[in-house]
Amino acid sequence: MPLIDKFGRQITDLRISVTDRCNFRCVYCRSARPEHHMPSDDLLSWDEHERLVKILVAMGIRKVRVTGGEPLVRAGVEDFIARLKALGVRDLSMTTNGHLLAERCDRLVAAGMDRINISLDSLDREKFERVTRTKAFDQVIAGIDAAQASRLRPVKINAVLVRGLNDDEVEAFAAFARDRNLIMRFIEFMPLDADRAWTRDMVVTGAEVHRRISERWPLVPVVHERSETARKYRFADGRGEIGLISPVSQPFCGFCSRIRLTADGKLRTCLFSKEDHDLKSLLRGGATDREIGDEILSIVSEKEKGHRINEPGFMPPSRTMVSIGG
Ligand code: SAM
Ligand code: SF4
Repeated sequence: MPLIDKFGRQITDLRISVTDRCNFRCVYCRSARPEHHMPSDDLLSWDEHERLVKILVAMGIRKVRVTGGEPLVRAGVEDFIARLKALGVRDLSMTTNGHLLAERCDRLVAAGMDRINISLDSLDREKFERVTRTKAFDQVIAGIDAAQASRLRPVKINAVLVRGLNDDEVEAFAAFARDRNLIMRFIEFMPLDADRAWTRDMVVTGAEVHRRISERWPLVPVVHERSETARKYRFADGRGEIGLISPVSQPFCGFCSRIRLTADGKLRTCLFSKEDHDLKSLLRGGATDREIGDEILSIVSEKEKGHRINEPGFMPPSRTMVSIGG
């Protein structure tokens, strides 16, 4: 049975968070204060994750992105990637902060990973350390080097722009994309930070990024699938590409094809879902694949029409980005 919701959207993309732990503490994601982590018994085992993906692939999931927390801090993630590939996932990728990537890239490629997104929120070492609260700038650059030298394609770099923090680097990031011939994606800051510091005036819109970059280097739109999160542009005069991900100023919920599975086995039909749906107790309670599939189908049919960030009375979800999986 294909996964189609009551608005007719077909779900083909799955994001799997394999851990809520992370070796960074990005200001727009985690808190500087000690945080509660999921007890290890609550985490799905690799076997449990694999079983759910198998059920979902039979229901039409074609793209799988492994994320977290930081996916590379969970031991065994390469073997998990290989198991996903063996299930017939056509488009297999990971989102990582890049800290451990240089040393793990070859194994990820050998496991069958197709592409990668690496987060990099500043090209300035001192600012990078302020954003991530970690001294790992060189390791992340080495991770990007390793990805570009490998078979992983495309290599996309994600920057979350926060007004007053790194919005002065838009042009520098564009130059980085041009120099390195990679895809630089600018993500609007969403109200999913653990400190609940988000305010609308901290959001740097995709329109502003487009205006600023195109004033310096003319941009040409690149055709993209309707369900893609990014509006894409190439440089008229050279290499590299930019992507604008504007969930706040230009929501793309109408064509959303994504669902998310958290590290503790909850299915989320939207980043901003008010509730998540427990699949772990079905897995551990002896449910058959058929029963789990039926439950997933009924959850997905009720997928929210869209997030409500721009509606009066909006309340962020209780889970923050690090425990949902971006
Ligand atoms: N640790 C990995 C990383 O940082 O790439 C993967 C997990 S992280 C939660 C996934 C993506 O979510 C990253 O690109 C990160 O920049 C983005 N993200 C985190 N908090 C965000 C927020 N409040 N608004 C927008 N994007 C956010
Ligand atoms: Fe960790 Fe990624 Fe969140 Fe940064 S954005 S704290 S790297 S999970």
